[in-house]
Amino acid sequence: MQWPRRSFSLLRAHGIVRQLSQKSRRFMPEVHYMLRRQKASLEETFAVLRERTAPYDIKGCDTFYFFCLQATPLEPAFVTDIAAFFRRVLEEDAQGPHDGAFSSMVAILTQTGRADVAVEFLKRKHEKNPSAQPHYRSYAPLLEHYIQANELEKAWAFWKYIQSIGTTQPADKVGPTLVSFASAALGTDIALFREVLGVLRELRYQLTPEDVALWLSATEQHGDWTTTQLAHAAMLPACQKCSTPLTKLPVSTAELDQLLAAVETMCIESTSGSLSATPRQVPPGKKHYILDGPNIAYLNQNFEGGAFRFDYVDQLVKQIEADGHVVSVTMPAYYFEEVSYLSVKTAARNPYKKTGTRYYRTRTAEDKAFIDAWEAASLAFRARREVASDDLYWMYGTFYLLAMDAKAGIETTRVNVVSNDEIKDHIVALDEQHGVSRDLIERWKGTARVGVSLGFVARKVAHIRLHDPLPFSRVAQDHGDSFHLPIADSGSWLCISRP
Ligand SMILES: [Zn+2]
Repeated sequence: MQWPRRSFSLLRAHGIVRQLSQKSRRFMPEVHYMLRRQKASLEETFAVLRERTAPYDIKGCDTFYFFCLQATPLEPAFVTDIAAFFRRVLEEDAQGPHDGAFSSMVAILTQTGRADVAVEFLKRKHEKNPSAQPHYRSYAPLLEHYIQANELEKAWAFWKYIQSIGTTQPADKVGPTLVSFASAALGTDIALFREVLGVLRELRYQLTPEDVALWLSATEQHGDWTTTQLAHAAMLPACQKCSTPLTKLPVSTAELDQLLAAVETMCIESTSGSLSATPRQVPPGKKHYILDGPNIAYLNQNFEGGAFRFDYVDQLVKQIEADGHVVSVTMPAYYFEEVSYLSVKTAARNPYKKTGTRYYRTRTAEDKAFIDAWEAASLAFRARREVASDDLYWMYGTFYLLAMDAKAGIETTRVNVVSNDEIKDHIVALDEQHGVSRDLIERWKGTARVGVSLGFVARKVAHIRLHDPLPFSRVAQDHGDSFHLPIADSGSWLCISRP
């Protein structure tokens, strides 16, 4: 259906098109409605949009520029017009166009050979609101354009600019672009390739199957480098292709102190309890395992009536002690009480959590026997949740003991925490409120965290398995004569080496 021009003038005459509903701050008709339902042309819609200037129809701009991008290639004169209006909104509106409109405008400009105008708009956007964190989606089309056009030095300078103004770095968007950047640089500029690889390492980006397909097709022509895909097992003890062992990224003493200070601050008061006050002697060649009590006790137990399994924890304690290691257990203090609240954690699968039903259990004689025995051996540590989340106790204990070892010049990691908890909430808090980088937290986890699972025989728990951290870090690695890129999920790698 064609948009009837006459009805436009009628609407204008009645002041309907320009009318802004102050209450809802919506322009009628909405740009989306015009384009999608009324099938108005871009030119007709633009004629309406450009009249909406006091205030500007910012939401309408998002839709309009998006539809323009979908309709490319556009007439050069029309691109000039819509760019001029975009500039007006950018200069005159208090906030300027949203990231959605920016992303479309920047893509249209780069496609029509006006990358310099896109750069100017983006710089102006940041100058105008320097306190607002820039969103990567506005910058992505220009970075991708430079890479595709093989203007790699410009791409690198632009990337440094994006970083310097604190732009968001959504891994699923930034990662694939940097992978294509690295593949373009590999054949032409090895120093630049190393720089890009370094960014991928800092982001701890792992390649998706799409990235791998792109990499393999893009690097086929690079005569002096070959890429080989290798399974996890083929990387141990060294890469089967290039004979280089993968590297494990360390955590320095200063970084441990930083982690320790951050967790201390996260607790309302100091948690200097038994873990730090009386660190027990670790026999030569052995380790100190700190067990995340609830995480182990709730293994496979998150269902209605699922119990807190003191016996799992106890079985694991005995298993580890039998190997000559030292064990501590962090446990919320209320589990030491007669009656305790039973935590039901899996909200998605468990309707009882959603309805807010609370379960309580009364300690049995067996439970009391476990607790009394742990207390007698002073291996249980009461985490007082009114002070801090019990996770913070084992985090603190681990950092404390690791830092103490590091200061004593002990290089091997003698302290492990046994937990499957990814501590996602704490990572957000450490990163955003305490300036601890995610990379550092991941390096610490890669060093100290031991996974745990139950081994069943005839549907009964026969043993508890520990899963040691990997001997290498799953990050992009530069070995000088070869490079390695981790692939997500499969555990496999790309090895880039000379044939
Ligand atoms: Zn290799």
